[in-house]
Amino acid sequence: MVIISKYKLESKKDKAIFKVRSYEERRCPICGGSLSVIGSRLRHLITESGDPIVLSIRKLSCDKCGKIHSELPDAIFPYHRLCSLTIKSIVAGDKDNAVCDEASYRRIRLWWAIFSKRSGALSIEDTYEKINDGVITYADFRKFFVLYNDTINDLKGG
Ligand SMILES: [Zn+2]
Repeated sequence: MVIISKYKLESKKDKAIFKVRSYEERRCPICGGSLSVIGSRLRHLITESGDPIVLSIRKLSCDKCGKIHSELPDAIFPYHRLCSLTIKSIVAGDKDNAVCDEASYRRIRLWWAIFSKRSGALSIEDTYEKINDGVITYADFRKFFVLYNDTINDLKGG
């Protein structure tokens, strides 16, 4: 995956699907090769005001190593449905600006505690930098979710 910060969300005429128009060109985080668009997929997101929206995310393929990367606008935090602004508020302990229920709030704080410790990510922005530098990968996210779920189950005592 690659994270972009220069983009525009363009709404398609039919409904609440937003196309991500990118104004930057990212290189493959694994090998530095150039990336070509090979398709797109839909991604659900809950905005900082709590509205559900759908984004059309481009799928990119590396011309050199062949790896497939999703091009994620930085409004998205990988593997989370809440937008990155909400995640940032949660991570900062800013409950007033975190539009989510109490359970999600606690779940994401716990997830971040584990994720940041294991990945060395200092902040949400730092996480994005590490993704684009190839330091944090899909595998890390999946691994951390497994760890997280194990921790949750331990806390629940089952
Ligand atoms: Zn590559």
